[in-house]
Amino acid sequence: MADNELTRISRKSQYLPNDITLDTPAEPEKLLHPSLRKSIKYCEESSPNDIENIESQNGYRIFTDGSKHDEKEIANPNSYNSLVVVIHKILHQCQTKNLSIKLLWVKGHSGIPGNETADLAAKSAATSHRAYDFTQFPMSYIRHINSQRTAAEMKSFYSQNNQSIYTKYLLPTYEDLTKFTQLLKPNFAMTQFLSNHGYHKEYLHRFKITYDDKCPCDSSSIQSMAHLVQRCPVFSRTRANHEIACTLLKIKPYDMTEIISKESSVESFKNHITHIVNNLKNLNGSR
Ligand SMILES: [Zn+2]
Repeated sequence: MADNELTRISRKSQYLPNDITLDTPAEPEKLLHPSLRKSIKYCEESSPNDIENIESQNGYRIFTDGSKHDEKEIANPNSYNSLVVVIHKILHQCQTKNLSIKLLWVKGHSGIPGNETADLAAKSAATSHRAYDFTQFPMSYIRHINSQRTAAEMKSFYSQNNQSIYTKYLLPTYEDLTKFTQLLKPNFAMTQFLSNHGYHKEYLHRFKITYDDKCPCDSSSIQSMAHLVQRCPVFSRTRANHEIACTLLKIKPYDMTEIISKESSVESFKNHITHIVNNLKNLNGSR
């Protein structure tokens, strides 16, 4: 994305004050030797009771309610982020001195006393007009903000764009569409199904490519995508497999938002669509 590049070049971000600049990645020799690198594991403890249990154990514990995104960066033993490199070094030093350090993730604003105290301290620091202790941001932060913005833009494009009426009928929200394409991996067959642009005669006839729009199965039904998927007897075998799978799962076999909620219905539906698309040319060319 253009903004990522711009940030990389200018070392500043439109989302942050000008005196906060892009973090310079650590030089490779600053990282721990590869044989000493370990990924950091966070324990998740969220209820006050869990915390009490943990507090009764030996060793040091560091609690955080930070974002999962930051945690991922901190956990990465090969990160070049200058702060993360320092964290890994400190943890390694503690380990060589047999100091046990546990990192724990807690849910913020959920009444955990230590967490509330830390929140108050952070609030007072933010209003104290003190200079920042650390004035650099990592590139991953900007990439994260920009990918969230892109998703939001795509979402509003999908809800306002009239060209995808058919797709929207199948998958009403952008989240549904994203989930669908992630689960089914867009291949030739799925794209035809999703866009309603394919070798089915209703579509071909609209562009005067075929003489009529009737399905050869009975020469009277319009060969729409819905006919092929839900009714055409030629594809009854893969349809039955899909419908049985959906009956067992207690979901509606042609409701896309329900199909994408279960792995086995996704699989049976994908088989059905792929079978139809792969055999459609043959079916239409045979009569
Ligand atoms: Zn048919």
